[in-house]
Amino acid sequence: MGGGPFDETGSDLMFAEAGEAYLVRPLSAKGEKLLCGFDAVREAGDADLAAAREAEARAVGRMAGDVPVDAAASKLAGAFDDATWDDIHRKCLGCAVCTYLCPTCHCFDIGDEATRAGGERVRNWDSCMFPLFTLHASGHNPRPSRKERFRQRIMHKFNYFVENNGRVACVGCGRCVENCPANLDVRKVLETFAAL
Ligand code: SF4
Ligand code: SF4
Repeated sequence: MGGGPFDETGSDLMFAEAGEAYLVRPLSAKGEKLLCGFDAVREAGDADLAAAREAEARAVGRMAGDVPVDAAASKLAGAFDDATWDDIHRKCLGCAVCTYLCPTCHCFDIGDEATRAGGERVRNWDSCMFPLFTLHASGHNPRPSRKERFRQRIMHKFNYFVENNGRVACVGCGRCVENCPANLDVRKVLETFAAL
């Protein structure tokens, strides 16, 4: 997704494993200030730098290859009604694990709950993978099956979010890939659409 464990965007401090310690690199004035408050911090030596470089090389070696995210995003723009959705969602159980673990998912619901003396309006964490998420008061549901809900998750991250914010709503952390009970892999979904 163009990011990775060594992406410094938006960070104040960068940590790298260095044996029994961490090599910490300040990236902003805020990071510098934070580091000053710790007695355990000492200047890195050659051995620390070598250990950190080794850990970095190990991490890079474990990372999967690039996902054709730009190609997929441009194909998704015209793929809302594509027949690919008919099959690609079939393994999905609708459990929402992928959305609850995702660092970029932020869907929520507003509910009114009774209290002893009145009521309060609360915001609940929710998921686009659940049927109730889009159920209207009329009984109509614009995303009535797992096909529409699966499509929404992919389209939101790789098409709508790109159109609205100029970037995909995925940092490539792999949590959804690792934890989906049906082994649905967002990389494979993107590869499928990129190849259309
Ligand atoms: S974790 Fe997998 S099975 Fe569960 S909702 Fe997400 S894609 Fe579907
Ligand atoms: S790989 Fe992307 S979609 Fe999956 S959990 Fe991480 S940020 Fe979310």
